[in-house]
Amino acid sequence: MSTPTMEAVEICDVAPRDGFQVVSTWIPTETKIAVVEGLADAGFKRIETGAFVSPKHVPQMADTAEVHATANVADDVRLSTLIPNLRGAENALAAGISDLVYVFSASESHNKSNVRRPVAASIEELGEVIRIGRDHDDFKLRVNIATVFDCPFEGRVDEDTVYAAIEKVLAYGTSIELGLCDTTGRALPDHVRDVCAGAMKRFGRDGINWLYHGHDTFGLGVANALYAYEAGIRLFDAAAAGLGGCPFAPGATGNTASEDLVFTFENMGIDTGINLAKLLSVAETIAELPDTQTGGHIRIVPRERVLSAA
Ligand code: ZN
Repeated sequence: MSTPTMEAVEICDVAPRDGFQVVSTWIPTETKIAVVEGLADAGFKRIETGAFVSPKHVPQMADTAEVHATANVADDVRLSTLIPNLRGAENALAAGISDLVYVFSASESHNKSNVRRPVAASIEELGEVIRIGRDHDDFKLRVNIATVFDCPFEGRVDEDTVYAAIEKVLAYGTSIELGLCDTTGRALPDHVRDVCAGAMKRFGRDGINWLYHGHDTFGLGVANALYAYEAGIRLFDAAAAGLGGCPFAPGATGNTASEDLVFTFENMGIDTGINLAKLLSVAETIAELPDTQTGGHIRIVPRERVLSAA
């Protein structure tokens, strides 16, 4: 491995949430737990383990509380959970989970399709989530803004729309992690760079941990992440085996594969803290599950070629 000379990155693996949520065949709870533990063992300090959403709409996430409570990981590994509304936050907090990822979309039609309400209502409800979260000592909040670049229904999303949404989120005045999400995977690298750089320039970095979440639908997942890195982003979402999608974003395929990002960053001298061989074995486990639509490249290259390069 080359000596890191550039600023390190952190990768949050979202396969157990963004990936598993679109798998139609039930994945046994023990398997989900084994994946979370395997990712932690590979070196991930951030893992999104599931979501508190309606089991009627996303049945695969019904056992999130159990996965979260049972997974045995080191103390420095943060397990977070996605919530689309106040009810999800209440349920997660009641289950003892205080590391929350609140999601809404920058574009109206995707927000309506995904969480069935206008954007303004989602941002208003975020205030309620922050209010109840503050009663919990270890409350941590990330806000993922979906369709920051492209909406499956409206196309390219106007930057001012995105900045207006960010401004409203930041008006709550809480220290926050802010995810700029390419939900459809259709963003182009220069667009990703411009919006990431634009948002950070406009709103600064004090009390804000900026994150880029990308999909690889158009084969641009790694390129987009690199442009986000160039813009100053140091925290990324990705999913082992390139699993993922959005049940409410037609045509969107998997997240950028964690192993592709780790391979690229590490070979560029950018430390990820992840053991690629261990990550690849977790990715294999995921790829062998029934009904999974996997993606990425590194996993299917002969292993010795991948690991000798890293
Ligand atoms: Zn996603």
